[in-house]
Amino acid sequence: MVHFVGAGPGAKDLITVRGAALLAGADMIIYTGSLINKELLEYAGENCRMYDSAYLDLDEVAGLYRDNRDLDIVRLHTGDPSIYGAIKEQMDILDKEGIEYEVCPGVSSMAGAAASLKTELTLPGVSQSIIISRTGGRTKVPPCQELSALSAHGSTMVLFLSAGLAYKVRDELTAGGYDEDTPAAVVYKATWDDEKILRTTLGKLPEEMDAQGINKTALIIVGNVLDGEYELSKLYDKDFDTGFRTGTGRQSTDS
Ligand code: SAH
Repeated sequence: MVHFVGAGPGAKDLITVRGAALLAGADMIIYTGSLINKELLEYAGENCRMYDSAYLDLDEVAGLYRDNRDLDIVRLHTGDPSIYGAIKEQMDILDKEGIEYEVCPGVSSMAGAAASLKTELTLPGVSQSIIISRTGGRTKVPPCQELSALSAHGSTMVLFLSAGLAYKVRDELTAGGYDEDTPAAVVYKATWDDEKILRTTLGKLPEEMDAQGINKTALIIVGNVLDGEYELSKLYDKDFDTGFRTGTGRQSTDS
């Protein structure tokens, strides 16, 4: 059985309880060495075999699955495996081989970064949507999903895999309609001991990232939620009735 496990953003105690238990019971762990905090491997038992997937290609990982089909294998992916996790291609191989698997979710670095920034990514009257995306690099994005096209809504942008392409990010977002003075933040290694936080504006983003030497393992967040006016939530408005509380009679549909 293969367990795809979300490791969380970095801090050892931000893996789920289930994820830690799966590590403790694993015969073999294949981890994404370039992004995973090695302290997480301390959850493993003494005789567990470990492989850093940074040194393996897809065929080699498939070979490990095939040759050890009777073992409990944890494939440890950073954050939550469903976001840029490259798990689909592995699951397709496991389906072909007839090897069982399951997925254990994790805390995405998006949530880790928002917590480090002490920010809410959805604020009433400012943005009620989050766009999770990236600028195209070696992996291209479909043309209708260029950042300039996604900018039309002025929603909160959370950009993965783009820290080395910050000039392109600024060009695309400003071309799409974000003002240069839109607040922007970068969180490098969110929740790790050497985390760095940069708060700036879209206009100054790439130069400030250069100045701080941040070009990988970082999220770029852009949007007015980072700073500015907002409306109070309806859910906690004293005038609104909710399923749990009677206000002055107006109905809130938020729950
Ligand atoms: N599945 C992961 C994302 C994997 S893609 C998740 O849910 O977080 C790898 C990208 O994730 C990196 O390029 C970076 O943009 C982001 N990332 C991963 N860990 C991070 C961290 N601790 N802090 C900031 N960004 C991180």
